[in-house]
Amino acid sequence: MNRVYIKTYGCQMNERDSEAVAVQLRDRGYTVVDDEKSADIVLLNTCAVRDQAEQKAIGKTGHLAKRKRDNPDFILGIMGCMAQNRGTELLDRLPDLDLLVGTQKFHRVPEMLDQLIRRENALGPRPNTLVDLEEEAGSEETIREHSGDQRQVSAYVSIMQGCNMHCTFCIVPKTRGAERYREMDSICAEIEELVSRGTREVTLLGQIVNSYGMRRIAYRNGISPFVQLLERVNAIEGLERIRFTSPHPRGFQKDLVEAYGRLEKLMPYVHLPLQSGSDRVLKRMRRPYTRRRFLEIVAQLRAVQPEISLSTDIIVGFPGETEEDFHATRDLFEEVGFDMAFIFKYSERSGTPAAEMEDDVPAEVKDARNKVLLEILGRSSLERNTALIGTEQSILLEGPARKGEGLFMGRNPGNRKVLVPANPRLVGECVPVRITETTVTTLSGHLCLAGVDESSAGMLAR
Ligand code: SAM
Repeated sequence: MNRVYIKTYGCQMNERDSEAVAVQLRDRGYTVVDDEKSADIVLLNTCAVRDQAEQKAIGKTGHLAKRKRDNPDFILGIMGCMAQNRGTELLDRLPDLDLLVGTQKFHRVPEMLDQLIRRENALGPRPNTLVDLEEEAGSEETIREHSGDQRQVSAYVSIMQGCNMHCTFCIVPKTRGAERYREMDSICAEIEELVSRGTREVTLLGQIVNSYGMRRIAYRNGISPFVQLLERVNAIEGLERIRFTSPHPRGFQKDLVEAYGRLEKLMPYVHLPLQSGSDRVLKRMRRPYTRRRFLEIVAQLRAVQPEISLSTDIIVGFPGETEEDFHATRDLFEEVGFDMAFIFKYSERSGTPAAEMEDDVPAEVKDARNKVLLEILGRSSLERNTALIGTEQSILLEGPARKGEGLFMGRNPGNRKVLVPANPRLVGECVPVRITETTVTTLSGHLCLAGVDESSAGMLAR
């Protein structure tokens, strides 16, 4: 009665939360399984950013509820952003739920499951749904456990929770609350512990990760709290690479741009959410920058790190987006030449300021605009990858590739996936790889070892 399966929807923050819950459950004697069918308890960690994500989780819950009717001992719970967003109204639609847990209460899940099981064993009829959607001071410090059973070459580290921005389209301030920052000492201790267990790369996580410490930690010689944290993480011995996501363009001031030139572990890859290339739409979205400022940040980053890789988020079909607005986005998107991008069709979120505006861009226009950007992205990604053919890249090998015998997966400094034949002993090492082929998304190559003919290096390494 204690096998738990956790299904995660949405972003890296959600994945990280699920990982921490899984470890907390294991520590409490639960078995966390990879296979939904064998589980006695299924927990869905949900996303609320777009309606589609919510509908997926609701559909899944409905499906699982049937299983519950056949087996009343089966336990079904919803955690995270959708639970927080919709609250107990979800129970009208999904009355079979046993557990509804908000974004500041993940650490309470083991105790709540214990409670459900205890009551069930002792009393027969199932108690009503257990609900905890409250705010909790200090909950940002509870996402720190990592699965210790296998080495994580690359690990996510949550440095803060919540969001203080007021983008008119976005539900996150409602689902995640106001910004709360972890202590720098605690973050560094967590990373040191990870490194002692074999981690070589960390990705610092936050909704607006470069707001870290704002108005709580003082600037030092013009250096923001976030860059102070990067400096400390950069000094951790044994760590090789630092990344972070997801930042806001507003936080790319001089100190952060310059950090790319002086912190050797900070990888030359930036996710820079643009949302729109039209100043008019940016204003309506309440994004505090212009297309000119965005291009200036890109130019500054490229001046410090000419090889820097860039990715972005774009929303097409925001209320009132005209052809002219979209062309401004398309032109800017093309001009920057992103390596990667997430392109979203605007989805109205009830309770956000944009929900008060008319969602007036027809679905087929959103589709068409989405397609135009995807086509540009395909071209620019392939072009950027093709330029790497023949170069030697330092690849941090993370583990066996999903497909292909003897193939291993790693990433180059620019965060591009690379497949390479290698020896399992090299997992966790940064190895030199000569790039020989590419697709839009993935590079391939072979190891190039000093003084060894490259074409046979792959064979030697095996
Ligand atoms: N740090 C990011 C930023 O600068 O705004 C926020 C991350 S958000 C969780 C991920 C992305 O989802 C956003 O950047 C935005 O492109 C997209 N998104 C958010 N709300 C949306 C909505 N209502 N409709 C469509 N896409 C949305």
